[in-house]
Amino acid sequence: MTDQRVVLATNNQHKLIELRRLLALGGHEIEVVGLGDVPAYPEPAETEWSFEANALLKARACVQHTGETALADDSGLEVDALNNCPGVRSARWAGPQADDEANTDLVLRQLSDVPPTQRGAHFVCAMALVTADGQEHIVRAEWPGSLAEEPRGGNGFGYDPIFVPEGFGITSAELSPSDKDALSHRGQAVRAMVPVLVEVLSSSETAK
Ligand code: IMP
Repeated sequence: MTDQRVVLATNNQHKLIELRRLLALGGHEIEVVGLGDVPAYPEPAETEWSFEANALLKARACVQHTGETALADDSGLEVDALNNCPGVRSARWAGPQADDEANTDLVLRQLSDVPPTQRGAHFVCAMALVTADGQEHIVRAEWPGSLAEEPRGGNGFGYDPIFVPEGFGITSAELSPSDKDALSHRGQAVRAMVPVLVEVLSSSETAK
């Protein structure tokens, strides 16, 4: 068992499994735990206006309460014709209690008179790494595409049923989970963060 460990500030099992799988693929023995594995603490509201700042907010809070190296991400959809909204408000675009279907319906209604050539959009994911001694690293990744006129597909979550990735004729809800991971904003951000995490943890090991 390794003594290198990171807390991913999430309760989302899919995100935990994805990070563990990518670390294992690279042969890295780093234990990844989630918020369910550390003593509970009040999670900060995502009050910032950039994905990077929200990810940092969550990672800093996690370090402050656990004293361990922490990772956190923030993601969302930016739509060209909506001046990059819903952006950091993606999860609650149709209201504080809105579900995925309500958010998706609202975006489709807002784009009802926007022709196919002007329906560009991209997903964004920012991931922040914060250490107990105050080091901070951020990566950001984008997944370009456009918005369909009606929802299609049963995989994924959120805006997947209306997001058509660039170069594809199907929505991201019609991609298999592994194909989506290989292409998506979150997959790209996690893959970019892995070498940074490995470097940070091994240099703190050396410093001991
Ligand atoms: P979070 O960063 O996981 O909290 O995601 C914020 C919101 O952005 C989600 O509730 C979704 O509405 C949207 N979102 C982020 N990533 C994706 C994705 O991969 N597919 C569909 N929607 C997403």
